[in-house]
Amino acid sequence: MAGVIKVARPPEDKNLFQLAYGYFSTILSGMAKTGAIFWVQITGKEKSNTLEWPEQPATYSDRFKGKHFLTRRDDGQVRCTACFLCATACPAQCIHIVAGQHPTNEIEKFPLRFEIDILRCVFCGFCEEACPVDAIRLGPEYVMAGQAGEKWVYTKDYLADRQELVGGVTSVKIENEKHFTTDHNPHGNDLIATDAPHMRHH
Ligand code: SF4
Ligand code: SF4
Repeated sequence: MAGVIKVARPPEDKNLFQLAYGYFSTILSGMAKTGAIFWVQITGKEKSNTLEWPEQPATYSDRFKGKHFLTRRDDGQVRCTACFLCATACPAQCIHIVAGQHPTNEIEKFPLRFEIDILRCVFCGFCEEACPVDAIRLGPEYVMAGQAGEKWVYTKDYLADRQELVGGVTSVKIENEKHFTTDHNPHGNDLIATDAPHMRHH
């Protein structure tokens, strides 16, 4: 027929043994490797990396970003000034704040409500980075299992006073330094925003 081009099919590999050899040799070498590891670990010659969780908790580095917490001032008040910077920076829009007028003039505002919908959170740490007063941090806790619906919205009280963090965390910052950075610090000391260790619990 005019206009039809016949394309030659590639020759079929008749050698089934050669065809299957690659698959079987790979499976066998994998099983041999697994068996060797099983043997050295069952005989105690090599330590297993498997953790018996939850009896044996995992330990992560100090940079681990787990469940959030709110820090406190030296006088025990929640450090947050309800500036909304964390809520604005949050890509998941899961921080909800209701600001209130503080009774003293030294502190302009404070959060009447501070809630994080943890099921929407992506643990990016932007809230921590955005906060100018070291009021919110992501901590070392990673266990979040639960069944009740309300458990997934972390309230201000929960964030500021969790038993796992021994009754709350005092901020490493002091009042007069909260707006200064390394490049602009008239006090000349270095206890500043860029020097806020995540895991310094008191
Ligand atoms: S860690 Fe990221 S997603 Fe989670 S509350 Fe903070 S800014 Fe939002
Ligand atoms: S946690 Fe920090 S950034 Fe968020 S509202 Fe409070 S002071 Fe502002």
